[in-house]
Amino acid sequence: MPATEPRPMVSLRGVDKYFGELHVLRHIDLTVRASEVVVVVGPSGSGKSTLCRSINRLESVDAGEIRVDGELLPVEGPALAALRADVGMVFQSFNLFAHRTVLENVTLAPVNVRRVPKAEARREAMELLDRVGIADKAGHLPAQLSGGQQQRVAIARALAMRPKVMLFDEPTSALDPEMVGEVLDVMTSLAAEGMTMIVVTHEMGFARRAADRVVFMDQGQIVEEAAPDRFFDAPDSERARSFLASVL
Ligand code: ADP
Ligand code: MG
Repeated sequence: MPATEPRPMVSLRGVDKYFGELHVLRHIDLTVRASEVVVVVGPSGSGKSTLCRSINRLESVDAGEIRVDGELLPVEGPALAALRADVGMVFQSFNLFAHRTVLENVTLAPVNVRRVPKAEARREAMELLDRVGIADKAGHLPAQLSGGQQQRVAIARALAMRPKVMLFDEPTSALDPEMVGEVLDVMTSLAAEGMTMIVVTHEMGFARRAADRVVFMDQGQIVEEAAPDRFFDAPDSERARSFLASVL
């Protein structure tokens, strides 16, 4: 192990989560280091979304600890709001504010939560919209945009909070096939710029290209963790082999 490993940005230790009787996260141990890109794959219902949601505390967990940049997840109050700002999240459904322009969608949280002056928030938002290739749509309403464009706005909106880590939960699953690439391209360049990312996706090409590590989940457990070439070419477990056979 090199002496200068980047610091852990997200770490889960012994995390358990139940929905009633259902044990959806089973003793999860996972460390994601600064600038690392971890792609999480696994069958439907294996707990991938719950894992993401527990990292920014959209779900509470029943046991174990979760840290973001070394800090234990706060339970509530201003500390929780600050944590949420550190952890950007992009969902399958873009969840943009329908009656706000693209620009307003990106500036609302920085102005209201980070207390950034409006002019500065607008300037930063335009830079972010430019970065995701959509600055020319700043004055449009979400409904006037394609799905791929809306998802790029959602990414810009998350980035506007200057997160330390970005979580993506199946960001391209709701998109028409021709729009998947433009969203993955934005994610690829974010990764290249050094963003720490946890990405749940069924896009195995992206996983192979962009991931530093692939985490395979099944039935609430991390069954396997490996570099992408290793995982795709020679998975250790029978469960991973049959999962790959079903998606590739
Ligand atoms: P994945 O994202 O891998 O498809 P999820 O994390 O969404 O899996 O779900 C894991 C398990 O938890 C599934 O069995 C799902 O039905 C269940 N589950 C998810 N959310 C809830 C909830 N709010 N209440 C009860 N069960 C849930
Ligand atoms: Mg899910």
